[in-house]
Amino acid sequence: MKTDRVLVILSGGQDSTTCLAKACRDYGTENVSAITFFYGQRHSLEVEVAERLARHFGIADHKVVSLDWYASLTTNALLNHTQPIGKDAGASCPNTVVDGRNLLFLLIAAIHAKSKGIHDLMIGVSETDFSGYPDCRDVFVKSCNVTLNLAMDYEFRILTPLMDLSKAETWELADELGAFDLIREQTLTCYNGIIGSGCGECPSCRLREKGLREYLARRTKGAGEAK
Ligand code: ZN
Repeated sequence: MKTDRVLVILSGGQDSTTCLAKACRDYGTENVSAITFFYGQRHSLEVEVAERLARHFGIADHKVVSLDWYASLTTNALLNHTQPIGKDAGASCPNTVVDGRNLLFLLIAAIHAKSKGIHDLMIGVSETDFSGYPDCRDVFVKSCNVTLNLAMDYEFRILTPLMDLSKAETWELADELGAFDLIREQTLTCYNGIIGSGCGECPSCRLREKGLREYLARRTKGAGEAK
């Protein structure tokens, strides 16, 4: 199986951008393609941010795919702009879960990858800081990998380098990859569409900030001990 090229699912957030940096190091930038989905999320700014990041890394092949019909099929706070973000009383999942999203993304990414003869797909999901997203779990990704291989009679390999990492460890990985400042300042994770450190209020910002604080505390301590 050829594994010399990779397609990264890039949203422009911390996790997928860390994946992009890792892919560039592991495969060489010229062997990295990226794909971004526009699906009526609160901020189409996400797509602009992803395009800017792809250019920054020198990715020549970056595809943006519109799934603008998605919001008409599902009710969700990310897609329905009048619904407040949060957790509905008694709900097991936050109302920012978009049903089927990663399955759909992986399917479309796989179709695109196969057309280019690419076998490896990379997605920045993690089950460590599990926030109630069922399609971020390892068991889902493994099952999806089997299904895609059967569906297209092709050997895909879905890579999830962040699966077992906490948010703090994801910041550490970004730092090792030399992308810490870029990811801190130029990525968009905030549900309210504020680049970098974000609004500080939404669940996504709080998770990102908590991880960053943990990592920075460890880094400062490590630097102190090294002296
Ligand atoms: Zn926010």
